[in-house]
Amino acid sequence: MPVERASRRAFLGAGWPRRGAAFLVTGGCLLVPAASGLAVTTAESLESGAPDTEAVPSDLVAPAAAIEAAVPGIALEDPATATELARRTRPAPQHAFAVGPNDPIERAWFSPAATLDERVTRTRRASLELGVWNLDAAARAVISGAVAGVPIERARAALRLAPDLPLAHMALARAQWLHGESPISALRTAGAAILSIPRHPEAAIWFAGNALYLLAMALMAAGLLVIGVAAILAAPHAAHDLGDLLSHRMPRFARAAFLSSLILIPLAFGEGVLGLAAACLALGCVYGSLGGRLALALAAAGLVGGAYPVAQFAGQVLTGLSNDRVASAVISTGQGFAHPVDGVRLEAAAETDALARMALAQRAQRNGELGSADAHYQSLLPIRRHDPTLVNNAANVRLALGHMESALDLYRESTEIFESPVALYNLSQAHGRAFQVEDLSRTLARAQSLDGVVVAELTQLQGTEAEGFVVALPVGSRELWNRVVGAGDGRRIAAELRSWLAPGRLGDELFVAAGTFAAVVLLAALLGGWIEASKSCIRCGERMCPRCDDEVEAAEICSGCIVLFQQNEKTDRAMRIERINDLRRREQRVDKMVFTVALLVPGAAGFLVDRPLRGFVGALAFATALVFVVHRDGVVHDPLVAGAAAQLFFLGIAGLAALTYATAVALSIGARRNA
Ligand SMILES: [Zn+2]
Ligand SMILES: [Zn+2]
Repeated sequence: MPVERASRRAFLGAGWPRRGAAFLVTGGCLLVPAASGLAVTTAESLESGAPDTEAVPSDLVAPAAAIEAAVPGIALEDPATATELARRTRPAPQHAFAVGPNDPIERAWFSPAATLDERVTRTRRASLELGVWNLDAAARAVISGAVAGVPIERARAALRLAPDLPLAHMALARAQWLHGESPISALRTAGAAILSIPRHPEAAIWFAGNALYLLAMALMAAGLLVIGVAAILAAPHAAHDLGDLLSHRMPRFARAAFLSSLILIPLAFGEGVLGLAAACLALGCVYGSLGGRLALALAAAGLVGGAYPVAQFAGQVLTGLSNDRVASAVISTGQGFAHPVDGVRLEAAAETDALARMALAQRAQRNGELGSADAHYQSLLPIRRHDPTLVNNAANVRLALGHMESALDLYRESTEIFESPVALYNLSQAHGRAFQVEDLSRTLARAQSLDGVVVAELTQLQGTEAEGFVVALPVGSRELWNRVVGAGDGRRIAAELRSWLAPGRLGDELFVAAGTFAAVVLLAALLGGWIEASKSCIRCGERMCPRCDDEVEAAEICSGCIVLFQQNEKTDRAMRIERINDLRRREQRVDKMVFTVALLVPGAAGFLVDRPLRGFVGALAFATALVFVVHRDGVVHDPLVAGAAAQLFFLGIAGLAALTYATAVALSIGARRNA
C-alpha cells in the first residue's frame, strides 16, 4: 500500500529512527572512547537530519584492532560492529563530548575488571546511584557483541544493565533458546519482555503508538469490508426495486446499471472510498434486518473511529517524542545517555519546566557537581513536594553533602508519600551511616517485605562495603507518558492515513464524517421500513416483488412453492417429485457456495447465516490479524527498544485475532448446518 510507505517516510522525518541510530552509536561510544569523536559526529549528523549516504573515506574507518588497543580490558569480538558504526559516518568538525573520565558510569565500565560480571555489577551500581535504572546504550552494545563472552553471558549482562528493555529480554530469550538450558526458560524470558514494556517509557510509547496505528487500519478495513458485504448482498433486490420506479419491464442489466450509477455518485463528487462506503452503507441499511443495521452502524462507527480519533491518537503518541524535545532529553538522561544537545535543551527549559530541572539535577550529580544538584532539588521541592521520587533523590544529594538530619527527614517524607522499597532501602542506608542500627534493620525489613527481589539486588550491589550506597529513583513512566502524549499532534498522521480513503470533504473533519454516516444509517433504516422491498423465496430463491407479482404473499415462500409443498393435491405427482429434487440439488449448490464464500470473504459468513453482528466481529478479527501480520515490525522503525519483542507482540495479537476469526466463521457455518 503506497500509504504505508508514505507514512513510513513521514515518520522517518519525525526524529525517532535518528534517535535509534544515535543510541546505537552511543552504545558503541560508551564502550569505545577512541571512536567517540566519530560516533558523536554520526549522532549529530543524524540529529540535524543531514543525509549520511556519502562515501566514507577509508581513514575514518577505525580498525577494530586500534580500538581494542586503546581500551584496556575491552576486546571487540566483532570488528564488523565498529566498522559498521564508522561506515555511516562522514568527516565533520570534532566536537567536545561532555562525558569524560569523571563520569561515574563510564568510569565504572572502563576500569579494568577480571570478568564481565564484575564490570556489569560495578556499572549497575554506579547507574542506580544516578537514577539510571536502564542503561540502554550499554545493554545494546553488549548484545551487539562489543565485549567478549559467550552469547548467553552477554545477554544476561545486558539484561542486568537494562532490566526493563524489551530488546534485552529478547536477546536473552534467544540465547537461552539457541545455547542451552530449557526452552521453557526462553519462553518465560520472552513473556517477561512483553511485561517489561510498560515499565520502559520509550518502549511503552513505541509499542502503543504502533499498535494504535495498526488498530486504526484494522478498524477502517473491517468497516469497509462489512459495509461492502452488506451492500453486495442487498444489491440484487435494490436494483430490482429501483427499476420498478421507472418501469416494471426494465431489463435486469439496465436495473443494475441504474443502481451502480446512483452508488457511484459520491465518487463523482470526489468523496473517494469513504463516499462510496456511505452509499453502500445506505444500501445495506435499507435492506438490512435489525441486527444487520446494528452491525452496519458498528462498522460505520469503526470506519469513522479508526480514520479519525484512533488514527489521531496513534499519531499523537508517535509524534510526542519528536514534538517535546525536552521530554525526550529527560528520557535520554534517565537512560544514562549524556548527549550535549540534550543538556542544552534541558538548560533552556529549566526555568519553567520542573521535569527538565530534575533531569539537570541528575546530570549535575553525574558530573560530580553536588552543590548544583542540591540547588536544583531545593528549588524544586516547594513546587513538587508531593513527588516521592524528587524527595528521595533530593535526600540522596543531601546525604552525599553530609547533611544527615536533612537527608533522613527527606527520606522519611518520601516513604510517607509512597512506601517505595527503594526509598526505604535508602532510608536504612542513611540510618546505617548515622549508626542507628535498630532503625536500619527495621527499615530494611520493611523494604524487604515490600519487594524482596529489588532489595536483594541492591544488597548484592552494596556488597561488603560498610559505607553502603543509596539509589536514585527514575522519573515515573506515567508522568513521562502523559507529557509525551500531551505534546504529540496526530492530525497530520491521521490525515495521511485516510488521504487515499477520503480525499473529499468527508475527509476534512470528524464531525462531518460522523454526522454524514449517522444520518445515512438513520435515514436508510427509516426508508427501509417505509418501502415495499422485494425479497427472495427461502425455498427456491425466486424473487417476490409486491409490484410485479399479481398475488403478493406476506409469507417467506413464493406462490409456486406454496402450491408445491402445501397444496399437493393440485399438482401432478411425478412433476412434483422432479421439482422437489431440483430444489434439493439447488440447496446443495447454495450450501457449497455459502461455505466457499464464508471461507473466502471475511465477514461474509455472519451475514450469510443471518448473524450480522458475528459478521462484524469476524471481519474485525480478520482485518486485525492481517494488518498485524503484515506490519509485524511496526509501522515506525524500532528505536532499538523492542527488538524481537515487536514481532512477538504484534504476531501475538494477530494470533489471538486469527483465533477469534476462525471461531466466528466456524460458529456461522455450524449455525447454517444446523438450520
Ligand atoms: Zn419459491
Ligand atoms: Zn418488481
